Amino acid sequence: MTAHTATHPESIRQSRTVEQLITGKATSDGAGVKLTRVLTQSLQRRLDPFLMLDAFGSDQPDDYIAGFPDHPHRGFETITYMIAGRMLHRDSAGHEGLLENGGVQWMTAGRGVIHSEIPQQEEGVMEGFQLWLNLPARDKLTEPWYRDFTAADLPGFVTEAGVAVTVIAGESHGVTGAVIREATAPLYLDLYLPTGARFTQALPAGHNAFVYVYRGAVRIAGSEIPTQRMAILANDAQADGVTIEALGEAKVLLIAGQPLNEPIAQYGPFVMNTEQEIYQAINDFREGRLAS
Ligand code: MN
Repeated sequence: MTAHTATHPESIRQSRTVEQLITGKATSDGAGVKLTRVLTQSLQRRLDPFLMLDAFGSDQPDDYIAGFPDHPHRGFETITYMIAGRMLHRDSAGHEGLLENGGVQWMTAGRGVIHSEIPQQEEGVMEGFQLWLNLPARDKLTEPWYRDFTAADLPGFVTEAGVAVTVIAGESHGVTGAVIREATAPLYLDLYLPTGARFTQALPAGHNAFVYVYRGAVRIAGSEIPTQRMAILANDAQADGVTIEALGEAKVLLIAGQPLNEPIAQYGPFVMNTEQEIYQAINDFREGRLAS
């Protein structure tokens, strides 16, 4: 994180409340990587423009060693945030990058990418998150795009209360994040809160927002959010942001975005607007046209 101390504190009139607490579902993907699907398909409309959030974390090599061999994507963006561990990415557009401790990989699949994500360690902890962000209909077949950000590349700041903020996307307290997207206006913050510290973030009322607590516990507008829970934040026209208070030391992802309000058609790694476009994606993949 590039630490800035001079910040523009955000003040809000009223915090959003917690609409629902979600416990992730244990599953496996790729060649047998164990993970927790926090944002599942049934929440895609509620949390538009976000399509999926997976949390992975294990110190057992059997849980991650097989990785994700070659597989396709079309129609959206994947954002991988590696808290601990090393993963090598290779794709059909010729990109290769090592993702490690605190780094972020942002990949716009657009009209098609075939890639692999393979662990580069045989022991130790592998922990991180993969978020799927939808593309507007007009951009679903855009050129693929890819960037790696090391931990040092990611903008960040520390508040007066000692909250360390990494701004992966969007803008917080006057600090512009690593990636900005106009259509979905994603905000993606990783927060470290010392015991008892509060953090306030302004959020447009119409944007969908959620937090995921991955260490400790926090309180939002009177509701406690325990570790490894996602809290969906209510869209109340009166609420102009959120205030998060740490109960003990806590680490939290705060994610928000502008809904696209377009039809969502998903078949595995393809997310389009219609069934017809899904058949097209499957055919293009089978016939070798997806990523050419
Ligand atoms: Mn993938």
